[in-house]
Amino acid sequence: MAARRPFVYVLGYAVTTPDNPDESPTCSAKGCRRPATWVLLWRNPRIHGPERTKRWLACDEHREVLSDFLARRDLPLSVEPFP
Ligand SMILES: [Zn+2]
Repeated sequence: MAARRPFVYVLGYAVTTPDNPDESPTCSAKGCRRPATWVLLWRNPRIHGPERTKRWLACDEHREVLSDFLARRDLPLSVEPFP
């Protein structure tokens, strides 16, 4: 059975949440293999509590796209340099 890779669709991108952060430090946007330079920490307070913070990695190009998407949905978000 293939490894479970939770994902959500964002603006046509399938964004994966790395199971093992050390495994593939590349951008989470679908089809993007660039090295991650940012990490987006966010959660959906309507579904999960603070213990379920999601972690997306992003390259310079996708950081804005992904953070804009989350900001428009009023999801708590913090963006930090990666690593
Ligand atoms: Zn990218």
